[in-house]
Amino acid sequence: MSLLGLDATRPCWRLLCALLVFACPASVGLWELHNNYLHTLDKQSELAATKAVRLIEAMLHHAEGVNRNIFPLISHPCNTSLLTLRKEVTLTPFVRSASLINHYGVYCNSLFGDVHWEDDVGRYSGGFLRLLSGNPVRANHPMLVVRTESQDGAVLSTIDSEYLKLMLALSAPVSGKAQLHVGNAWLDEQGHLVEGYHRLPTLAVHKAKSEHYPLSVYVGFELPSTWEALWRVRHLTIWMLLGFSLTISLLVWWLLGRPGTMEGELKRALRAREFVPYLQPLIASRSGKLMGAEVLMRWQHPTSGLIRPDLFIPQAEACGVIVPMTQLLMRDVAQQLGQRQERLPDGFHVGINISAVHCRDFSLLTECRAFLGHFVPGQVVLVLELTERELLVADAHTLALFKQLDEMGVKLAIDDFGTGHSSLAYLQQFHVDYLKIDRSFIGRIGTESLSEHIVDNVIDLATRLGLALVAEGVETEMQADYLRGKGVDYLQGYLFGHPASLRSFCDALSKAEVGDKQTLVRVA
Ligand code: C2E
Ligand code: CA
Ligand code: CA
Repeated sequence: MSLLGLDATRPCWRLLCALLVFACPASVGLWELHNNYLHTLDKQSELAATKAVRLIEAMLHHAEGVNRNIFPLISHPCNTSLLTLRKEVTLTPFVRSASLINHYGVYCNSLFGDVHWEDDVGRYSGGFLRLLSGNPVRANHPMLVVRTESQDGAVLSTIDSEYLKLMLALSAPVSGKAQLHVGNAWLDEQGHLVEGYHRLPTLAVHKAKSEHYPLSVYVGFELPSTWEALWRVRHLTIWMLLGFSLTISLLVWWLLGRPGTMEGELKRALRAREFVPYLQPLIASRSGKLMGAEVLMRWQHPTSGLIRPDLFIPQAEACGVIVPMTQLLMRDVAQQLGQRQERLPDGFHVGINISAVHCRDFSLLTECRAFLGHFVPGQVVLVLELTERELLVADAHTLALFKQLDEMGVKLAIDDFGTGHSSLAYLQQFHVDYLKIDRSFIGRIGTESLSEHIVDNVIDLATRLGLALVAEGVETEMQADYLRGKGVDYLQGYLFGHPASLRSFCDALSKAEVGDKQTLVRVA
């Protein structure tokens, strides 16, 4: 599988893809949860602040009612008004005390009766409302004072901070903070009053302003870390999100590790240069000397190890990938063998297996030219091996191609001879140079008289057509002797050497004495 040209099936990329697939939904999901949580907090603050304002407004409404009722008593003597003041305070919810004010200040209070207290209208927010830290009865007990003024004086009623505290606490959400703000004083839901500068909560702060009274309520959250708070309230969702991301990531890991279609796998392997050449020596039967090698493809798979060609060549041929695969092989062999050409016997045969599909375009000419270009002229003989099982159509195009190959000095061998149906005319049309007797016949030499007859007939045919013969799959001395006796020119098989990696083959060549380079090289 290829992503943006990268081979995502390689373990490192596979791991990276799986990690990315884990990280993406996990981080996007967490971010979404976080934003959603902040939004929820914001909404809670807004609702709580509005609710607190409404509740405090309701209390102030009661206080205003008291002020209205005692308003006519302004300038009346305290002793005649006191009973009414006390009655109002007793009957009205939330209101703790009521007072009358004349030009000199507060002169009558529902609790103390006659008093002489100062009254400064300037300290009331909007001339109407004031948050006081305490009163002569309870010094550190805040209260909210509601003032109503007329020309002759004014009236006051006070609301105890216990009620305010309760309203703020009832409105505030869990772990939220609510504060009442009047003038420059702040009262929180614990009942603490602060004047002047006051630090607001850090998170999701919302302010609700009363439309009827000069007061506001602030609600917000004081959290050490929103992520920590989020974990506390949504840990189940977070676990589910992480589990979901992990599942997708494992799925991607598994999918990338699964073999794709054979064609896709072959293309991936081609990009990763996993097709490598193995070389098997070719021996001159009379002298026993090394005179060439056949290039056999192997698939160096990252997980399955070395794969035999008959397990993937038919599929590669079916989807056309065989052409670039052979090109890769030819380039590798030419480069590495070219660097050690002084070690090669003169006229060293290099056999390359070519599929019929490759003979349909003229690029083969360029590839053969490039191959030979790596060697001193005459140093190697390039032999294209075409299997008899996959016969070529002798049309004008193929004939022209083989004519040019012939002119270039490239030889042609018919592989697996005896298993297909090539006619004499066919062999002549294509200017075949070698016949390779299939190893199934060689393997039966000395065991079956029929195979020996076929071998004899093939040798006879080749001699009459003037073709050189190669016997493949020679495993025993007896087979070698038989073939030598019949005049077969070249021998190939495990008896002389197994196919070996290009590097091992070249190393074996390098180790051979220069003067001894015609010596049979046992590569296996
Ligand atoms: P082939 O071209 O007939 O190659 C000879 C096969 O016989 C090789 O099998 C080789 O390893 C095996 N062999 C050689 N000596 C002996 C022996 O003494 N005994 C036995 N039992 N086997 C021996 P390999 O390498 O598995 O290749 C199988 C086939 O895959 C090849 O048959 C060829 O048809 C195809 N092939 C291999 N490489 C390529 C390639 O680069 N291109 C194409 N188109 N086909 C290839
Ligand atoms: Ca072959
Ligand atoms: Ca063969």
